[in-house]
Amino acid sequence: MSDKPHIRSLLLEEIESQFQIFEEPKYRIPQLLNWVYVKRAKDWEEMTNLPKSLRTKLAETFAISTFELETRQGSRDTTQKFLWKLEDQQFIESVLIPANPSLYGEASDRHTLCVSTQVGCAYGCKFCASGLEGYKRNLKVHEIVDQILCVERWNQTQPGQKPEDRLINNLVIMGMGEPLANYDNLLKALKILNAPWGGGIGARKITISTSGLAPQIRKLAEETLQFRLAISLHGATDVVRNKIMPVNKKHPLGELALACDYYQEKKGRMITLEYILIAGINESLDQVNPLANLAHRLHAKVNLIPYNKVEGLPWERPTEEVQEDFLMALEKRGVTATLRREKGHDIDAACGQLRLKTERALRGPIPA
Ligand code: SAH
Ligand code: SF4
Repeated sequence: MSDKPHIRSLLLEEIESQFQIFEEPKYRIPQLLNWVYVKRAKDWEEMTNLPKSLRTKLAETFAISTFELETRQGSRDTTQKFLWKLEDQQFIESVLIPANPSLYGEASDRHTLCVSTQVGCAYGCKFCASGLEGYKRNLKVHEIVDQILCVERWNQTQPGQKPEDRLINNLVIMGMGEPLANYDNLLKALKILNAPWGGGIGARKITISTSGLAPQIRKLAEETLQFRLAISLHGATDVVRNKIMPVNKKHPLGELALACDYYQEKKGRMITLEYILIAGINESLDQVNPLANLAHRLHAKVNLIPYNKVEGLPWERPTEEVQEDFLMALEKRGVTATLRREKGHDIDAACGQLRLKTERALRGPIPA
């Protein structure tokens, strides 16, 4: 594996200082960035308007390689999962979700990409596929950035697309891993993806989802960029949360709510509460009052998500009637809430499942 810094892990000021060391003129930088972020080049040799001597220096100093598409599932106009193979043979997923005004951000003719931040996850929520195989490692900055660029590159090869078309204008950091446990790499990647010279995606179109790392939520509140924040709540009391989310023992609801107050104070109405409905666990109406109280306190919207079945786990989604009753009870309390009613279990694509299946298949049957 290359130990050179990756070109897609650098901020503009870092590239500028390297160009000073190279003694290269500044006007070459926008040309380079155009190759990297607009034309999505995979090789220095493609950059034909840069002098050969500069290409050689760049190649000696930086890596530009990217990961390979292992599999893609889904059709062009529905949710599609991409499974990437990293340089160290690990797998991560990104999920492309077509425009849907009721999801995150506003209506648009473009797409949302659900991005992973770690290989596996250490937080071990009982219902989640990502935690099942344990935690392997944090993703590096360029591995976060490249998920967007690789999907754009794939789109570029589809019929009817112009080479520099952009598909993705919304990001949800809700793939595999706990984003706030990989804070520094995530923030740097998001700065690159947000910058006009980089990904050009508005910060308000980027939603970071966390299982509730209260200290990092406070830290995020201090950042200048206005990211949206989604809290994976899934229980409105400590009793319910403790049953399914070990992180709640470390940062119980009281502490989490205070960190969210702080984020809310600093950023305005930027919080969504995510609530998966799991049969026999958290769909009882006694969760409605504490959930409504928290939503009002944080001026937050609630997203109810019927649980996606994970192979090997016993959890199920409640009946549609129970889901609708929960929604109605929340609405009666004056909460703005949505319930995903999509047919099939494909939307959201239950993060981590494709990777889990592929890893298990590669390992083959467990020897007797
Ligand atoms: N670690 C972060 C982000 C990744 S998980 C977090 O927990 O917020 C993204 C979302 O998918 C979380 O809300 C998570 O609880 C939810 N999720 C995980 N497994 C799921 C499943 N099987 N069905 C529905 N949602 C699931
Ligand atoms: Fe990790 Fe989020 Fe899955 Fe919990 S829900 S195990 S924090 S990825």
